Amino acid sequence: MPELPEVEEYGRYIARHALGRRIVRPRVLDERILGATRAAAFVRSLRGRSFTRVRRHGKHLFVYTDRKPVLHLHFGMTGDLAAYRDASKQPRFAKIVFDFEDGSHLAFEDVRLFGVAELIDDPDHFIIDHSLGRDPLDPAFTLKDFRALMSRRTGAIKALLMSQEVVAGLGNLYVDETLFQTGVHPRRSSAKLSGEEIAAIFRTMRAVARKPRLHVPREEGSPCPRCGGVIRRAVAAGRTTYYCANHQR
Ligand SMILES: [Zn+2]
Repeated sequence: MPELPEVEEYGRYIARHALGRRIVRPRVLDERILGATRAAAFVRSLRGRSFTRVRRHGKHLFVYTDRKPVLHLHFGMTGDLAAYRDASKQPRFAKIVFDFEDGSHLAFEDVRLFGVAELIDDPDHFIIDHSLGRDPLDPAFTLKDFRALMSRRTGAIKALLMSQEVVAGLGNLYVDETLFQTGVHPRRSSAKLSGEEIAAIFRTMRAVARKPRLHVPREEGSPCPRCGGVIRRAVAAGRTTYYCANHQR
């Protein structure tokens, strides 16, 4: 499943392969990917437009054109992008394709159709309407903001970090990794975290969201690469959770 760092990568991919190119033909190959948008409206709204800017919030991408509406992409479980010149390279599970004026193409593919490619009016409204929390990589997101978010809520730290209303886009693996690196037990009550622990979680969460390299082994009973303790498997926040029984307190 594409996680935040992969979605960030997709944003850069669109910037590289689609921004500034005029769409001569938007094609809908499977309208089930369009959410509430109608295929005819999708084509009509994007034909002749150029993508001008791409913005990510959590696991959502917003691709602006030179006028409204805005293309919203969510990759679900199996969403992917492919840019190509040779039309025979069109991916088998392409759901929408943009044919650009310069002869290149960009496809959004999705085998399992949990993703979405739809038109919305305003990403800021979308973020509010979907109660999305702060983006962990937003440069304006400060430790002070994070402390304020933590102080307004109680519960197990894992559940809090998984909640899209606190921080948008951190998935199960990334939350486990953050807690592993900071030595915090996933079921610790957020109210009992020290100021230093909150600062360490904030710092580590941002580093983890930037670089998808995971250290916590996802196998029960394997040795902890950090302290030699034993990796345990449990359910926390409703999700399978791996943690070190020795150094995560
Ligand atoms: Zn350990």
